[in-house]
Amino acid sequence: MKYFSTNNKELRYSFKEAVIKGLAPDKGLFFPVDIPKLSDRFFQDLPNKSLAEIGFEVARHFVDEDIDEKLLKNICEEVFSFPIPLVKVEEGVYGLELFHGPTCAFKDVGARFMSRCLSAFAKESKKELTILVATSGDTGSAVANGFLGVEGVNVIILYPKGKVSHIQEQQLTTMGQNITALEVEGTFDDCQALVKEAFADDELDTKYKLTSANSINIARLLPQSFYYFYAWAQLQEKNKEVIVSVPSGNYGNLTGGLLAKQMGLPIHKFVAAANRNKIVPDYLDSGKYEPKPSVQTISNAMDVGTPSNFSRMMEIYKEKYSDVIKDLKGAWYSDEETKAVMKEVYERESYVLDPHGAVGYLGLNKYLNRGKQVGIFLETAHPAKFKDIVEDVIEIEVRIPNYLQECLKKEKKCVVIGKEYHALKNYLLR
Ligand SMILES: *Cc1c(COP(=O)(O)O)cnc(C)c1O
Repeated sequence: MKYFSTNNKELRYSFKEAVIKGLAPDKGLFFPVDIPKLSDRFFQDLPNKSLAEIGFEVARHFVDEDIDEKLLKNICEEVFSFPIPLVKVEEGVYGLELFHGPTCAFKDVGARFMSRCLSAFAKESKKELTILVATSGDTGSAVANGFLGVEGVNVIILYPKGKVSHIQEQQLTTMGQNITALEVEGTFDDCQALVKEAFADDELDTKYKLTSANSINIARLLPQSFYYFYAWAQLQEKNKEVIVSVPSGNYGNLTGGLLAKQMGLPIHKFVAAANRNKIVPDYLDSGKYEPKPSVQTISNAMDVGTPSNFSRMMEIYKEKYSDVIKDLKGAWYSDEETKAVMKEVYERESYVLDPHGAVGYLGLNKYLNRGKQVGIFLETAHPAKFKDIVEDVIEIEVRIPNYLQECLKKEKKCVVIGKEYHALKNYLLR
């Protein structure tokens, strides 16, 4: 499979080049030249396959000779070593729980797959790889966790001081080994600016082989299509139309689902479920795409005003609005509506939604025709990650999973730096 840039469809890149570069030189996103149709046999056997097997069979088409089959199989087995169960919440409604990975957020899936691919390429090149990643909370720990203990790779995470939750900070600063956390006296935007400047610095370039672990890396997107097949495999009511609702921010998760549909997965419709950052629902209403500054909500991982995967969604539908709205419906909700449904679902079904999953649940309810359809919403974060809000709304104590408790007990280790570029550079050249 070759890849082109969404800004220039003439040039071709291999999977390896696309993964190492992250972003195309013209700042476009990498996108596969064609999306493979999977065989009837694949779909017939699907209910008997594990998530790792599904991942391998789908990934093969996209990776080609850049990673040999045996290694790819190992990668898929390592990455999908945690469950992604489809849980019945009520009659005809299921939650796909994507939060059972090491950092309790769905980003583990993409981050782990990308890190295994990058480490495979690093081993070939024999030069140590340094991953610089700016995080506002979740991404940093998912990426770092994927690289933890991996030989030939060092990870440096930059996070804004005082702007991540206590649990998130513990996750970022207690890993040790080849992971270093830099606490930056500034905002997330400052962290991101520092990383960008480092990539453009020739002096650093001679000393380090720097790579980004950007959220738009194609190796993070691809595995986000695998679990849609797995959800369908687990579903009992395959005779009904299937609707899938995806709580969205940068739309990588939803784009994974749209890719799965293109590959032949019989999903009838998707719902793009948003909070007040409703750029895509507005586009689906009006046909006009208008990015805006983001606003803060309780589903904060979805507070995105310029959704970076929008160009990939457009690529799938060749920019044809009339085709987009055949597959995709939009919905958006306020914090009050989100809290109300968390409370209601807990009281009625004893199911605890996190604020992101709650938005997905609401979006599903808007469009699900319960007689002839069955619905799946994606649950993207463990409720314990949003303990304060969840406990406040549903008035129960949320149990923190054991592996999160472990990191709460560990000692925080980090290096504090200022937000000026020379602070980062001095640290790297020390
Ligand atoms: C990142 C994230 C989302 C949004 O996913 P996108 O792929 O950016 O649309 C939703 N929920 C949680 C918990 C997240 O961390």
